[in-house]
Amino acid sequence: MIQTDILIIGAGPVGLFTVFEAGLLKLKSHLIDALPQPGGQCSEIYPKKPIYDIPGFPEVLAGDLVNNLMEQIKPFQPGFTLGERAETIEKQEDGTFVVTTNKGTKHHAPVLVIAGGLGSFEPRKPPIANITDFEDKGLAYFIRDPEIYRDKKVVISGGGDSALDWSIYLSDIAAEVSLVHRRKEFRGALDSVEKVAELVKEGKISLLTETEVTGLNGEEKLSSIEITRKNKEKEQLEVDAFIPLFGLSPKLGPIANWGLEIEKNAIKVNNALDYSTNIPGIFAIGDVNTYPGKLKLILCGFHEAAIMAQYAYNIIHPGKRYVMKYTTVNGIDGFDGQKKEAKKTVAVSI
Ligand SMILES: Cc1cc2nc3c(=O)[nH]c(=O)nc-3n(C[C@H](O)[C@H](O)[C@H](O)COP(=O)(O)OP(=O)(O)OC[C@H]3O[C@@H](n4cnc5c(N)ncnc54)[C@H](O)[C@@H]3O)c2cc1C
Repeated sequence: MIQTDILIIGAGPVGLFTVFEAGLLKLKSHLIDALPQPGGQCSEIYPKKPIYDIPGFPEVLAGDLVNNLMEQIKPFQPGFTLGERAETIEKQEDGTFVVTTNKGTKHHAPVLVIAGGLGSFEPRKPPIANITDFEDKGLAYFIRDPEIYRDKKVVISGGGDSALDWSIYLSDIAAEVSLVHRRKEFRGALDSVEKVAELVKEGKISLLTETEVTGLNGEEKLSSIEITRKNKEKEQLEVDAFIPLFGLSPKLGPIANWGLEIEKNAIKVNNALDYSTNIPGIFAIGDVNTYPGKLKLILCGFHEAAIMAQYAYNIIHPGKRYVMKYTTVNGIDGFDGQKKEAKKTVAVSI
């Protein structure tokens, strides 16, 4: 059984930053994530996209933000259970929790922090009969590494921001990019639609509107797709890769069955105080929670993590008082025995 002070479900940016805030309070953290790598949506959906609203970073790639968070939490030596979904929780008589994953790994902690974001990632799949035969064999629902499409013939389908943005991005990398959309109009940002129109004129993107991908063919891997245009015959297109980008359907997954108060697919929390849920000892932060005025932004999740950690401390060390100190004053006292000293400054008068 894995023992820890704070058990964090979800290793997205908010779960990762929780390790830091807990570490400052000398609390040990362990993270569980269903995905094989940390970083949540940032790593899984848009690692190569720049984010512009992280305070202090005018621009940072989502993947780099995750790398930086991993570096920042290193001194606190978090444990990770990756590639496993937290499936059940059992409250013990002493108020602590045992969480078991779908692979049977058990974790025990006095405080549970749910930072489960959108929940388990479930991409919306187009209704093509044999679609699962080609998953990871030329067909992908997310773009993790655009480089694998270098000099390849790629077909993207969808009408939202992801389909538009990735068509633009890959038009510089892939040998051919075709964007297939079943309507004439796109749902994405206007400037992306305009950029795609420009690239179509330059011959860098082939645009197929009022068209659907209706079949997939290939032996070992995908080699061609069947497209059906409105009022026209079916056609075959030779492809190396097909990327349907129809968004994610938010599914809380097993978390929804844990007796937590849920509203619109998110966990209700007390935002006036500590981001606690209706079950004492369980907190919910980041995209997974809801309260009046909630914004699903990374910076809001970071704020929630900092506040929540103070209250988690009170549960783990009842009656013990913790006085918050700035890291500039106290430095960082890592669990690896290494101390990052606060830098002393000297006042200079001229
Ligand atoms: C294309 C795109 C662009 C975006 N751009 C911005 C931006 O510019 N600025 C900004 O602030 N935000 C942006 N966001 C939103 C931002 O990514 C989210 O607010 C952020 O990822 C939320 O972090 P999180 O840690 O709460 O959840 P997530 O990143 O969703 O991570 C949650 C993790 O929990 C795991 N999980 C869920 N349930 C379980 C379970 N039962 N067991 C184990 N693991 C589980 C999931 O696998 C996932 O890894 C963007 C989102 C998208 C999709």
